[in-house]
Amino acid sequence: MKADIVVIGAGPAGMAGAWAAAKNGADTLLIERYGFCGGMATTGIVDSILGHYLNEKQPAVAGFLKALVEKMAECGGCEKWETTFKKYGISFDPEIMKYAAEQLLLDAGVKFLYHSYFVSSHVDSGRITGIELANKNSKMTVEGKYFIDATGDADIAYFSNFQCTKGRPQDGKTESMGCVFKIAGIDEEKLTEEVVKKAREKLAELRNSGELKIFNEGLGGKRNTNRKGERSFNMTRFAGDGTNPIELTEAEIYLRKETFKIFQFLKKNVEGFENSYISAFHINAGIRETRQIKGLYTLAEQNVIEGKKTDDSIARCTYWIDIHCPLGRTVKVHLCCKECETTEYCVMLNQYKNYLPSRNKLYPPENDWFSIPMGCLIPEKSKNLVVAGRCISADHKAMGAIRVMATCMATGHAAGVLASIACDKICDVTDVDAKDVQKIIAMQEGFY
Ligand SMILES: Cc1cc2nc3c(=O)[nH]c(=O)nc-3n(C[C@H](O)[C@H](O)[C@H](O)COP(=O)(O)OP(=O)(O)OC[C@H]3O[C@@H](n4cnc5c(N)ncnc54)[C@H](O)[C@@H]3O)c2cc1C
Repeated sequence: MKADIVVIGAGPAGMAGAWAAAKNGADTLLIERYGFCGGMATTGIVDSILGHYLNEKQPAVAGFLKALVEKMAECGGCEKWETTFKKYGISFDPEIMKYAAEQLLLDAGVKFLYHSYFVSSHVDSGRITGIELANKNSKMTVEGKYFIDATGDADIAYFSNFQCTKGRPQDGKTESMGCVFKIAGIDEEKLTEEVVKKAREKLAELRNSGELKIFNEGLGGKRNTNRKGERSFNMTRFAGDGTNPIELTEAEIYLRKETFKIFQFLKKNVEGFENSYISAFHINAGIRETRQIKGLYTLAEQNVIEGKKTDDSIARCTYWIDIHCPLGRTVKVHLCCKECETTEYCVMLNQYKNYLPSRNKLYPPENDWFSIPMGCLIPEKSKNLVVAGRCISADHKAMGAIRVMATCMATGHAAGVLASIACDKICDVTDVDAKDVQKIIAMQEGFY
């Protein structure tokens, strides 16, 4: 197979990248290991898109996100854009996302190849000439002029020998994995304030005693799925490396086991849950952080908290440094920061406390955003590879901000535009002018 632009990974970043490149006239192929789009949004049923919200008048991310929301709304899987962009999180139905995203991309002219796993690449003096996929056809080669790595884990960059980092510099530990799960058949009318209060108190007790390994005692209401009687929950953690298949396997088993324990507790003890059932387990354990590329520019904590703007900005991020404990702890630990109250030994608190962010310095300035410079998407020495999504060039702390889905869509959008301009001009990705990228992003209703 062949295409001018080959996008690997159909998560928030890859969907946006393929859409933007095809919209800009490029012959674009999107490759995905599963049989549908969405990445964590569908395989992890992470059903609240974060990172677009600036204020009620203007979002910080639109472009592909807006087109997707409008398509999902048309299919009944989401509220309309005019309503959703004013909310902090955009709820949607992941089942509808699978269909709506695919149709949106097909309409833009994107070609698909599902059920194919990237395994290696052919690189000639910093230029990728083709990639190898493993699928039912054994091995398949795909040739391309430009490649977009939207695998979340920087698989293409890493296996093409571009420099990558993983986790925090002191011990390489990454944010903990986790999972979202759904319980349906809930009688919402029975969930009075009093019932919720009692349930939360009991959950907190079980958390503090270590009986339930949960990092919050919420009842999932805010991450509602738009389906009557169904709620989404995000309560579990697992410390491990999401690129290590052995640890990933352990994570899958552990997270499902803990999920089931939480469900059993709710069903047995909380009024309103008597007839409830698990309506969805994750398909893939939730991965928050693995590899980052070493790009021409690396985002750091200061970019986030100062709301730093750059001339070569290609995306806006409004989100904050949200680091889930890399040790997977749940008792007295929520965010990884200087003020963490854990009583157990933690190498960061004991030896590298200065590195940790402060609880009151995690956010961009109020009502503001920070730039993602174009260099964050371009690996050092790259000629035709662009990277998008959670694996762009950022340190462990800034990564805690740019990993949310609206931001991943915004960097994906920019990657698609960047690659398509390079393809038009027949030049290296480093020779594309950020101003040209910004112009097309704006024409496609995005922000930079
Ligand atoms: C538990 C949890 C809760 C979260 N909650 C939220 C939330 O509420 N709101 C929010 O906005 N964000 C949330 N996030 C973060 C967000 O979901 C991710 O950071 C985001 O989805 C990353 O997007 P991406 O496109 O970079 O990667 P992914 O979503 O991981 O997509 C990567 C895609 O590439 C495919 N792929 C990977 N490797 C290969 C390969 N070798 N070959 C072929 N295909 C491949 C994958 O199958 C996948 O489809 C959460 C994350 C977790 C884990």
